[in-house]
Amino acid sequence: METDERIVHLVTHTDGIGRAAIAEVLELPVPTVMSAITRLVKRGVLTETADAEGRRGVGRRPRVVRVPGAANLIGVLVAGPGHVTARLATYGGEILAVDSLPLDPGDAGPDAIAPGIAWLRQQAGARAAAGRLNCVVVGVPTPFQAGVGSTGHRVGSEPQQMRFPTYFESDPTSALVELAGVPVLIENDVNLAALGERSVGAGAEFPDFLYLKLSAHGIGCGLFFGGRLVRGATGYAGELAHVQVEENGRLCACGGRGCLSTRLGPALLDSVSSAYNRPISFDELLELAAGGEIGPARILRDVGRLIGRPLADVCTVINPGAVVVDTGLGGADEMIAQGVREQMTTFAPPVIAISTRIMPSAHPGHGEVHGAIALARQSR
Ligand SMILES: [Zn+2]
Repeated sequence: METDERIVHLVTHTDGIGRAAIAEVLELPVPTVMSAITRLVKRGVLTETADAEGRRGVGRRPRVVRVPGAANLIGVLVAGPGHVTARLATYGGEILAVDSLPLDPGDAGPDAIAPGIAWLRQQAGARAAAGRLNCVVVGVPTPFQAGVGSTGHRVGSEPQQMRFPTYFESDPTSALVELAGVPVLIENDVNLAALGERSVGAGAEFPDFLYLKLSAHGIGCGLFFGGRLVRGATGYAGELAHVQVEENGRLCACGGRGCLSTRLGPALLDSVSSAYNRPISFDELLELAAGGEIGPARILRDVGRLIGRPLADVCTVINPGAVVVDTGLGGADEMIAQGVREQMTTFAPPVIAISTRIMPSAHPGHGEVHGAIALARQSR
């Protein structure tokens, strides 16, 4: 019976999936899947039809298994500084509606997510013909541990008063499920994007890879080992931002000193702004560098070096097949990649430096939706 439940769960989080793919995803023997699907189709729980999107021409079109009736939809809410990006999507990854909902800087916790859930319900209601919402995934900009909440601001069980975002003081899943009326899954935002790269992106062929996301707010890192997302004992795995790069450097909101994050984000922009004697935004920094301005181009290569130094050590320890870099920075990508490669060559053993591929993201800036779909399939 458990096999039947696992199959139905997986199928309800797809746009239709073949028998072989079900066996592969659930790591079940093909004959087991075959007989379970025959049984489920006979009972009317699932249907099996020719794939409308499948290849045409010679031979039979591939058959896919679906849940009968309306298609299922997924809601994805990603909380960032000042706003929540809300997207309603199909399980094929097609975005049906998207909006940016404002968030007060002090807002956090279930109350900050509630308007996003209301928006998803309203959007799904208006598109009842397209399908029905059957899962909401929430991405948060902090380490998150199921059953505990945000973990970055705690030392053991003691909350600290530093600025490290608390986001969820405790795990708000049950409160959010009540609002949404469907299962709700919560995950660190960068982990979600990394899951997206693993399921249908640059990480698809690498069971072991690192995903790096650089933005105006700093750097995030997701870590895959043996094909599985690594969250660590307290949800803190992959926090490259809090590796020390400067002994006795500035105090970081995590309680460490001289963390990588104290040199990126606002600190980076401050240093550029003082040279220009006016405020310089992250976008403007990129534009200046792409336009041939020497100082900003140098700053971006230095950012690559700054990240590349601890990255060389991490790569030496875990020997990933690739480092997938999501900057969404256009022409600035290469300047940063140059700095990263330079440090990898200098500080990692040659076998690591040569074998670790530095690759651009397949879904720059929006991998979270694909990650949310992958997470919904894995959840039970
Ligand atoms: Zn830190």
